[in-house]
Amino acid sequence: MSRPVDTDRWAGNFDCIVCRRKRLVASEFSKRALERHRKTGGPLKCNKCAAEQEERERSEAASKRKTALAGCVGGESTCSSCKQTLPLDNFNRNQLAKKDKARCRLCVEKSIKDEERTRESSKQGKLDEIKRKMKEADTKGDVKERLRWESQLSALEAEFVTGLKPIVMGRGRGRRGRGRGGRR
Ligand SMILES: [Zn+2]
Ligand SMILES: [Zn+2]
Repeated sequence: MSRPVDTDRWAGNFDCIVCRRKRLVASEFSKRALERHRKTGGPLKCNKCAAEQEERERSEAASKRKTALAGCVGGESTCSSCKQTLPLDNFNRNQLAKKDKARCRLCVEKSIKDEERTRESSKQGKLDEIKRKMKEADTKGDVKERLRWESQLSALEAEFVTGLKPIVMGRGRGRRGRGRGGRR
């Protein structure tokens, strides 16, 4: 009598239709599969094969989702900003999720730079504001206040200069200062 090659001590009565192993014991199969087999006499699939198939189906579904996400055929998508149709690696994934509103990397970079520019110009606005306050302090003759704004200005200016182009300092101040200098 030949021994089963199974690790189990007993030979079973079940065959797997997929991997074609024979005489498997019941523990190689799920309860549900065995029940169905008893009822219908249909083919059985062992746990290992069932798991493999499930895994395969999962990864197939995942790749299908990915294609659907790209929202395009042939691995290309059209940029909503520059209207160019480009290979998918020209797009960030979060952009592709926007489907027809997706923008290519270049356009995204450009818009980030535009935002930076806007920020810089608002910084310029802040500079102007501080200069105005300095003038006000000058008019009031408040030296303390004036120094306070001055230190704020130089801090902001340093940031401004390193971030962007140098700016002309104290244009209005010079003119005004001279004029008032004689008065005091
Ligand atoms: Zn199998
Ligand atoms: Zn673009």
